[in-house]
Amino acid sequence: MTHISEDELNDLRATLEAERDSLDEELATHGKKIDNKWQGDSESKGEEADPSDAADNIEELVTNVPLVSELDKRHKEIDAALERMDKGTFGVCSVCKEPIDIDRLEANAAAKTCVAHA
Ligand SMILES: [Zn+2]
Repeated sequence: MTHISEDELNDLRATLEAERDSLDEELATHGKKIDNKWQGDSESKGEEADPSDAADNIEELVTNVPLVSELDKRHKEIDAALERMDKGTFGVCSVCKEPIDIDRLEANAAAKTCVAHA
C-alpha cells in the first residue's frame, strides 16, 4: 500500500472507527443481538397492546429489519476494512489487486474494490 501515506492511513482508520462506533449505537437503538447477530427489534414494548399499538409494532418490524440489516452489513464492511489495515492489504482492489484511488477511499474508507470493479 505504498500509494497511501501513513498519515492518510491513520485518518482513514479514525474515520472507520468513528463510523463503526456510530453504527454500534444505531444498532443498539434499532435492533438487538441474537446469537451474536443483529436483528431488527420486533418485540412489543407495551403490555396489553391495543390495535393501534399492534399496527405501530408491525410498522416498526417492517422498517427496522431492513435498517438493521443495512447497518449490520455496513458494520461488517468496516470491520473487514480495519482487518485489511492490520494485515497490510488495505487500499488494494480485491478483484484486480491494483491500488484503490485515495479519493475513492476518502469517500468510502471501507471500499474494497477499485472504481472499475465497484
Ligand atoms: Zn479492480
